[in-house]
Amino acid sequence: MGEWGPDTRAVRGGTERSDFGEHSEALSLTASFVFASAAQAAQRFANEAPGNIYSRFTNPTVRMFQARLAALEGAEACIATATGMAAVATTAMALLKAGDHAIVARGVFGTIVPLFNQILARFGIETTWVSPTDVDAWRAAVRPNTRLLFVESPTNPVLEVADIATLAQIAREAGALLAVDNCVCSPALQQPIALGADLVVHSATKFIDGQGRTLGGAVAGRRSLIEGSLATFVRTAGPALSPFNAWIGLKGLETLRLRVEAQSAKALALARWLEAHPAIERVHYPGLESHPQFALAARQQRLGGAVVSFVVRGGRAAAWRVVDGTKLLSITANFGDTKGTICHPASTTHSRMSAVEREQAGVAEGLLRIGVGLEDTEDVIADLAPGLARQ
Ligand SMILES: *Cc1c(COP(=O)(O)O)cnc(C)c1O
Repeated sequence: MGEWGPDTRAVRGGTERSDFGEHSEALSLTASFVFASAAQAAQRFANEAPGNIYSRFTNPTVRMFQARLAALEGAEACIATATGMAAVATTAMALLKAGDHAIVARGVFGTIVPLFNQILARFGIETTWVSPTDVDAWRAAVRPNTRLLFVESPTNPVLEVADIATLAQIAREAGALLAVDNCVCSPALQQPIALGADLVVHSATKFIDGQGRTLGGAVAGRRSLIEGSLATFVRTAGPALSPFNAWIGLKGLETLRLRVEAQSAKALALARWLEAHPAIERVHYPGLESHPQFALAARQQRLGGAVVSFVVRGGRAAAWRVVDGTKLLSITANFGDTKGTICHPASTTHSRMSAVEREQAGVAEGLLRIGVGLEDTEDVIADLAPGLARQ
C-alpha cells in the first residue's frame, strides 16, 4: 500500500477480504466475535494471539476504515470514534491530565469551546484561546505544562487559515503535540502530518461520509500514540465507531477526492459571484485572492474547499431573509454533503458561545455559511438571489 498513489489507496487501501471472497468490503455487523476454544479466548484476552474480541475494541469493517483513512492522511495509524466530537474529546482526554495546559485556536468548531472551557476544565485542564492566524500569540501562550496545541484549518465557519508547519515547530519546541482538525479540507486537499502535525482529527460526518447519512470521527497519527493512549481510551471509555457507520465512511473515502474537487470548483465560482454582490459586505473563502491568507492557503491546501461563508449587510434580520428566501439549499447545520446547505451560525452552531466569544471567532450577526454541494452553481445562485435582492 505504501507505494500506491492516493487514488489507489482511496479505493483499495486497508481492504481485508473474508473467506467468502466478497469484492465490496464486508460490513461486519456484530457486537462480539466467536473463539475456537476456551484457550483461544484466553489468549486473545491476554493479548497473546491476534484476532477480534468485541467491537468496542476492534471490528474488521472499522479496521478497514481506519487503515484507509490513515493511508490517505499519510499517517501510521488511525482510531475511529463515534463522532467528530468524540475524536476531539478522545484526543484531549487520552493525552491530557489534571494540571496540563492546552492552547486551542479561536474559531474552532463551536462545540469544541464548551468541551474545553466547561468539561475539561472540571478535570483540571486549563485552556488558552488564541487566534489561529497569530503565530506569535501561540508562542507567547506556551507554558511549562503545555501538552497540546489544537487547531482547525481552515476554521469553520469563517475559514481562517493557520500556518500548520509553524505551529508544528512551536509544539515541538514546547514538548507538546499538535493536533489538526482536518474536517473542512479532508485529506483530499490537505495532509497536516506532512506539514509536521502529530495528530489529525476528523469528523467523518462531513466530507468522508459525503452524503450526510451517518456520524463518525477519527484520529490519525503515529502508531505509538494511536495504538497506545488513544486506543486504550476508546476501548475503555467507549466512544467506538459503529461498524455500519465505518462502512459508510470506508465507501465514502473511495470517491472523496472526486467529490471534494468538484464541490471546491463550484464553491470558488459561487464565492466569486457572492464577492461581486452589492448586498454582501465580505466573503470568506481561502480560494479567493481577497482572502487574508490566500498565499498560505495556496501552499498548504490543493484547493479552497467546499465551505463558503459571507456577511450580509444588515445583520441577523438580513441574513435570515436570505436563508428564508431559499427553496433549493437545505436549511441545516451540516456541510460536506452532495446537497448544498445553508445556515446562520450565530443563531445555530455558534449560539452557545457568548457574544464576546462569537465576535472573537469572527461569527458576525450577518454571517451565513454555505456547504457547497454538487448542484449546478447557476441554480444555487438563482436560489440566493431573491433573498439578497430584498436587502
Ligand atoms: C462537525 C465538526 C466537528 C464535530 O463533528 P461531529 O461528527 O458533528 O461530532 C468537529 N470539527 C469540525 C471542523 C466540524 O465541522
